[in-house]
Amino acid sequence: MAKVKVATDWLDVCSGCHMALLDIDERIVELVKHVQFTSSPITDLKHPPEDGVDVGILSGAVGNTHQEAAAKEMRERCKILIAIGDCAVFGGICTMRNFFDKEEVLRRGYVETESTDEEGAVPRSEELGKLLDRVKAVNEVVKVDIHIPGCPPPADALWFALTELLAGRMPVLTGDNLTYE
Ligand code: SF4
Repeated sequence: MAKVKVATDWLDVCSGCHMALLDIDERIVELVKHVQFTSSPITDLKHPPEDGVDVGILSGAVGNTHQEAAAKEMRERCKILIAIGDCAVFGGICTMRNFFDKEEVLRRGYVETESTDEEGAVPRSEELGKLLDRVKAVNEVVKVDIHIPGCPPPADALWFALTELLAGRMPVLTGDNLTYE
C-alpha cells in the first residue's frame, strides 16, 4: 500500500513544536512504515511537492509575507491541514508584538537592543519577508482542518492525531491531548 505523504513547515516559531513531533521518540519508526515525510524545515527539501501531499502540518503563527505565502502554499498542496501548537492555533506568544507598531518592533529588535552596537539597522532587503500589520493564527489566513494546541503540544497528541488519520478517522482531541499552556 502506498505510504501517506506528509509535509511539514514552520512559520513564526521557536521550533519547539517540531521538537515535540520528534518527541514521539521510537514511535517514529512505526510511523515511517506508513508515512513518507516529503519535506520539512529540517530537511533539504523545504517546500511541499507540487503534486501535493495527503497531510500538511504547520507550526507557528503568520507574522510576515513569506510565512503567509508558505501557509498558502501548504494549503494548496495538501488535502488535510493540521495546525500544531498555540502559535499556529491562535497566534500564541508571537502575538505579543501586536500591541506595538511594526516599525517600533523592528527598531527595538534591530537597533535598540542592549547587545546591538551603533551600526545596528533594520534590514530592508527586498528578499526579506515584510512584517504583516499584526501576527495571525494560521486559520486567519487559510482553512485549517485540525487544531492541536499546546506550547508545545504533547507528543502523545501529535501521535494520536496522526494515527487516527492513518486509520481513516478525523482525530477528535480530548482530555490530556487538548492542552492550552
Ligand atoms: S507553540 Fe510554543 S513551542 Fe510551539 S512554536 Fe509557539 S512558542 Fe514554540
